[in-house]
Amino acid sequence: LSKSLGRNGYSYFTPYMQIAAQQKQALLRELRNVIVNDQLEVVYQPIVNFKTNKILKAEALVRWNHPERGVISPLDFIPLAEEYGLILEIGDWIFKQAAKQALIWQAKFGEVFKISINISPLQLLAPQSSEMWLDYLQQIGLPCENVVLEITEGLMMETEQKIIAQLSFLRDAGIEISLDDFGTGYSSLSYIKDFDIDYIKIDQSFVLHMSAHSQESLLCEAMIDMAHKLGLVVVAEGIETVENKQLLFEMGCDYGQGFYFSKPLPVQLFEQRFLTVL
Ligand code: C2E
Ligand code: MG
Ligand code: MG
Ligand code: MG
Repeated sequence: LSKSLGRNGYSYFTPYMQIAAQQKQALLRELRNVIVNDQLEVVYQPIVNFKTNKILKAEALVRWNHPERGVISPLDFIPLAEEYGLILEIGDWIFKQAAKQALIWQAKFGEVFKISINISPLQLLAPQSSEMWLDYLQQIGLPCENVVLEITEGLMMETEQKIIAQLSFLRDAGIEISLDDFGTGYSSLSYIKDFDIDYIKIDQSFVLHMSAHSQESLLCEAMIDMAHKLGLVVVAEGIETVENKQLLFEMGCDYGQGFYFSKPLPVQLFEQRFLTVL
């Protein structure tokens, strides 16, 4: 909890820290019951094919609808779930929810509709997870080709082999793998070399502030060229403006995602905006 504190000679438990620790404990207690209390929701953000302008992909993003605190971001509770051994249960719930939704939407599209699901490396370290996912897909009748898994974060050296093995197991079954937050510290070139993947997602930090001839845009261009040479498909996330969409399109980026197209939406709104026009 307070691993790195105390270095500057401050005491471990300042009143501020105590409050933070108490809040964390309270949040943790509630997180343990988040599924039985039906407080999790998956929202969906469209991923747009730059060549066809079609939306045949969406990313599933989890939200915690807390009765008092309002909507809690996954950035605030996924790490807690990882730290306290809740990520398998929560991750499986998200996977099932997103797969069920993809099955419904697949039935409405003429072409393959792909759902992208974020997973924690800890889920890949639990081999029963991969097997459960494949069983579940078979049980509900959603083909593996409809599912993309997005991976990110520090895959520690000693666990890398296990993760590589799980990823190829899933990939052999037909699930696609996307390397999320590409270009940032934990998602770098060595992973492209070692992992069998299908997509890279250029991290939004490169996209948000890009402008013509800026360093960000040169880096995007280089990442896109490199990925294509390696036979990978590129998704850019964090597209907020038409200018950035245009720049990425001209660089040959394959797919785009961001507020310019749409924020992540609850099921009903997603259907209203993107499925009724079909
Ligand atoms: P991510 O997978 O890289 O997801 C992209 C994040 O960028 C999402 O934040 C999305 O709402 C946000 N975003 C999309 N377009 C734009 C844009 O144009 N501008 C800006 N500023 N932001 C944009 P969100 O939903 O808060 O998720 C944050 C992170 O939490 C995700 O990053 C992912 O790493 C993690 N996460 C979300 N859902 C799940 C989940 O179901 N399981 C796991 N393990 N992690 C999740
Ligand atoms: Mg993602
Ligand atoms: Mg990302
Ligand atoms: Mg991320």
